[in-house]
Amino acid sequence: VGADGVERWKLYGQKWFCSHADADVAVMLARPRGAAPGTQGLGLFALPRRLEDGSRNSYRIVRLKDKLGTRSMASGEIILDGAIAYAVGDVGRGFKQMMEQVNLSRLSHGVRAASMMRRCLNEALAAARGRRAFGHAIAEYPLLRRQLMKIMLPTEQALSMYAFSADAMGRADKGDKDAANLLRILTPVYKFRACRDNIPVASQALEVKGGLGYIEEWVTARLVRDAQIGTLWEGTSNINALDVVQRAVGKSGGHKTLSAALKAKYEPSGALPGQYKGLLGATLDRVERFAEAVAADPRHEKRSRLAAGALYHATTAALMAWEGATLGAEGGDARRLLLSRLVIEHRLAPNDPLSLAEAPWEEEAMNLLLDDAPVPLAKATALVGR
Ligand SMILES: Cc1cc2nc3c(=O)[nH]c(=O)nc-3n(C[C@H](O)[C@H](O)[C@H](O)COP(=O)(O)OP(=O)(O)OC[C@H]3O[C@@H](n4cnc5c(N)ncnc54)[C@H](O)[C@@H]3O)c2cc1C
Repeated sequence: VGADGVERWKLYGQKWFCSHADADVAVMLARPRGAAPGTQGLGLFALPRRLEDGSRNSYRIVRLKDKLGTRSMASGEIILDGAIAYAVGDVGRGFKQMMEQVNLSRLSHGVRAASMMRRCLNEALAAARGRRAFGHAIAEYPLLRRQLMKIMLPTEQALSMYAFSADAMGRADKGDKDAANLLRILTPVYKFRACRDNIPVASQALEVKGGLGYIEEWVTARLVRDAQIGTLWEGTSNINALDVVQRAVGKSGGHKTLSAALKAKYEPSGALPGQYKGLLGATLDRVERFAEAVAADPRHEKRSRLAAGALYHATTAALMAWEGATLGAEGGDARRLLLSRLVIEHRLAPNDPLSLAEAPWEEEAMNLLLDDAPVPLAKATALVGR
């Protein structure tokens, strides 16, 4: 504690990964001398780049990482040599406080993936509509249309997750306990799956653009590189899937809160066909039981990613049904209802990959989805009921 009454700490050691190495203030965990081992003994500190008299703080960026992507953000290795830092909150609660920041950051990575996928979809649609090969716009070819759908579906799922999580976050910040519990499970579910989806979506968008997609003058090459980091930082896919199953489901019962919140959204809708509500309810119940069974038995740990993915798909199917029905009932575009059924059929229902059976509803839905014209509610409800 200085003569001015301000408590200042001195930090020593090496930080191997440091994003925004050039930031004016960094927040980091450090262990006070003599504190307990493990996460319990960690304190949270704010480390300014410059001291109060304007001089440089005592840390050095010894190397900038030569990275695959996110190259516009400097990541470095730092050596702290008695750097001045200020404790943030109670030094004994550092890790808990940091986890609040990590959760916020995990959400931001879900949103980052949602926006990157949107860019991928826009790039792919523009390329597919503009490029002609063998006498036709490539958007007319059946194989390419399927590829576009594989880009569109995860993109729209991530958008629904974004709006739902943002709403839960707003309510949780105002002290709503149910919303906080909901956000607790949505955060790792969203981070896990949207960041995972971002990688194939970016690769597919590059491919739709053809050889040009590989050239740095266009954005797709960068989108492919930048997509990779989403599954790594703020916890890898495995770490987030384990968080979903072991803590959010196993300890907090968040899957029940999630299921109840979704049913409360779509069940009162007068625009959704009763039969489709039944399908959504049965899907949510099936996924809820599966996640619970995986959480209950350590032998099922290997299925944690499957459980986290199933929760994501069931959640987005319910949300998109509600969104499509609500927008459609207001005279707007009901296309999200069609996307909802595609999620159920392609992500959650048993499928024989070698079946040649045709699904006429799906062909019609795909034509509507790849067209920009709004889909009337009556058309969408007829198709999901077929
Ligand atoms: C560009 C970049 C910037 C970064 N910036 C920062 C930063 O500013 N601050 C910071 O603190 N960190 C930062 N990191 C570090 C990042 O958060 C970690 O690299 C990431 O969390 C993974 O941890 P790890 O590297 O120790 O991987 P490891 O823990 O070694 O993981 C290796 C593999 O093992 C798997 N694995 C580990 N445990 C389990 C388990 N229990 N079950 C199943 N699989 C498991 C992982 O999923 C992964 O596939 C940054 C990393 C990068 C690449």
